[in-house]
Amino acid sequence: MQVSHHNLLFVLLFAGGIILPTAILSVLSFRNIQNEMFLSQKNFVENLSSFQDDIDNAIQKEQSKIYQETKAASLFLYEQPQRLLDFGHAAEFKSVDGIEAIFLFNNGNLIYPDISSKNFFKSSNFSNSVPSLLDKRLFQEESRGLKDSVTKKIYLEQRNRSLHPASFFFESKEEQIQNILGLIRFYYHEKRYDDALKLLGILEANPHQQGYLHADLTYSVNLLHFEILVKQRKHQEAQDYCLAVLAHFLEKQNIDDISLSRYFFESAFTQILSFETLSQEKREAFWNLRENFNRQLGYIDILYNNKDLFQEILDDEASSKEGILYKSTDNTTLFKMSYPYLSGDQVVIAVIDRDAYRSRILGKLETVIQSYKNIPYSITGKKDNLIMGEIPENTPIIDQHIISEALEWEFTLYEKDMQDIHKETRHRMFLMYGLMLFALITVIFGSFFMFRFITQERKLLSMKANFLSSVSHELKTPLTSIKMFAEMMARGRLQRAEKVQEYSTLIGKEATRLENLIGAILNYTRMEHGTGAFKWERLDFSICAKKVFDAVEDIGVEKGLTFYTHFEPNVFVMGDYTALYSLVQNLIDNAIKYTEAPGDIKVDVKDDGDWVVFSVSDTGIGIPLSEQKNIFNDFYRVGDEMTRSTKGSGLGLATVKRVAETHKATISLVSKPGKGSTFTVKFKKAE
Ligand code: ADP
Repeated sequence: MQVSHHNLLFVLLFAGGIILPTAILSVLSFRNIQNEMFLSQKNFVENLSSFQDDIDNAIQKEQSKIYQETKAASLFLYEQPQRLLDFGHAAEFKSVDGIEAIFLFNNGNLIYPDISSKNFFKSSNFSNSVPSLLDKRLFQEESRGLKDSVTKKIYLEQRNRSLHPASFFFESKEEQIQNILGLIRFYYHEKRYDDALKLLGILEANPHQQGYLHADLTYSVNLLHFEILVKQRKHQEAQDYCLAVLAHFLEKQNIDDISLSRYFFESAFTQILSFETLSQEKREAFWNLRENFNRQLGYIDILYNNKDLFQEILDDEASSKEGILYKSTDNTTLFKMSYPYLSGDQVVIAVIDRDAYRSRILGKLETVIQSYKNIPYSITGKKDNLIMGEIPENTPIIDQHIISEALEWEFTLYEKDMQDIHKETRHRMFLMYGLMLFALITVIFGSFFMFRFITQERKLLSMKANFLSSVSHELKTPLTSIKMFAEMMARGRLQRAEKVQEYSTLIGKEATRLENLIGAILNYTRMEHGTGAFKWERLDFSICAKKVFDAVEDIGVEKGLTFYTHFEPNVFVMGDYTALYSLVQNLIDNAIKYTEAPGDIKVDVKDDGDWVVFSVSDTGIGIPLSEQKNIFNDFYRVGDEMTRSTKGSGLGLATVKRVAETHKATISLVSKPGKGSTFTVKFKKAE
């Protein structure tokens, strides 16, 4: 009863701990897997909208960052000196990544860059032409008094006399200038710097003449003047001269000579910065001056080249809610920042550096896109050039909108073929089903093998228990007889000498039986411990078998059985005598035990080529087919009536099997219940 309680507990634990959870988990998992298709479709739709949101957010975030930076930089511009010449003490300039130039307006007036081209916005019909053509009339009036033309020869004569060049007569304005310039060049080559400077001074001071100097000529004259001063090592004068030209440049009303003036100022500043005599303070001032001048000049350049666009955006009253308005041409994109982004009448116009802006935005987009996969989208530029993603063919569009006004990028989301999603999901489902099945099979097989193992263990335990009880019973029976006969003899109640002899013989027989039994147990344990205890020798199997037969024949004959024997002489095998003896004995013993009289037993040893074949046949009870495999197991006894009434340990055939195995012999059994059995053992013949 105790055992079955344990059994019940075990089964309950096993079912509750393994089978039930596995079954529930399996059912749940199967149901989940079935939902997979629906879930992945839903996921995709959710992913689409969050992808779109993330893209929009990333761009908006970066854009408003740029706006904030631009605003900060524009506030910083107020801090900059208003006069360019004060730039020697200018604070550091703050630039914004993605923005090429920032213009500051207040009340419609340009505050930064502070070059007097502000007027440019006041009159819309700004003239590109050289304004001093107005002076033409004046010049003609003056030249009316002039006489014959002056040749190069006259110049040469007059330069020796250091005549004032203003007194020259000129045939035409072009000639007049060319002649003076020729003379200046001559003086310069002759290193007559003072003379050259004088002429230059006249040329620069005379408003009429200067009016005829084209912009390039003006700056050539300026540069020559500056260089002569440098050649004369008049560094202070050179600096002053450069600043004077700068001041003059700033006072001018037109800005059509930016590139030329740039050339002059760049070379003048560079030379000044290389003066050894320049103090550290001045060097810094000139450096700042150069940087700011170049920047402002660059800005003015942009302004000048896009004046229509600037005018348009300034005049445009329509402003978006955030106070940001975009305008662009093929080459330039700019945005106006105004109220409520900025306070009052402040207006900032920022020109976008397209490449820098683009890489700023791209960097942010890439991080977003990395976290989404398998979503068909595209980002295209103004001319439909692909910037990110790809454009699938013949695919309906879900959504399309501009994501960056600055870059004019369009974002497009395409419909995804549901077949693709299904295919991906099917793969996943297949894998999950596979895993589930694998887990189930493992649990089922595991349980099966565990039960089998446990059953076998239990069987073995009960067999051992049977063995112990049958062994003790077997041991007790002969001992009881021996004890009884010995007691009878000891009491001296036996009168006749034959009785004494009879009892002694019986005691002897019982002792032999006891001995045999103990022998069987010892044999079995000997086999169980392996071949270590074996004494291997070449021996004649027939002699061994005959010896066994002689020892047991009487028992069979007494039982009423008939023996047929054949022992082929000189059949040698390699083996352990005791082990082989017990093999033969067990097989013949069994034949006798399980055959009722009248019956036949055949013991045969024969030579079969390379083999020695030993067989024992009987006409006994036989063994059912289902039991034939089991009977060789340790302690196993067939559970029929006949076996139960026959004494035995269940160790005989186990011993036979072990001996055969250790001798590399094979055992075969042919048996039919009610007809009899034949055990055959085939040994390899010894050399
Ligand atoms: P036991 O001591 O019970 O004879 P064995 O290992 O020798 O143990 O035999 C195992 C079982 O095989 C026996 O209990 C018996 O049922 C069966 N068996 C063995 N030999 C024979 C045979 N010659 N005829 C019928 N049954 C046999």
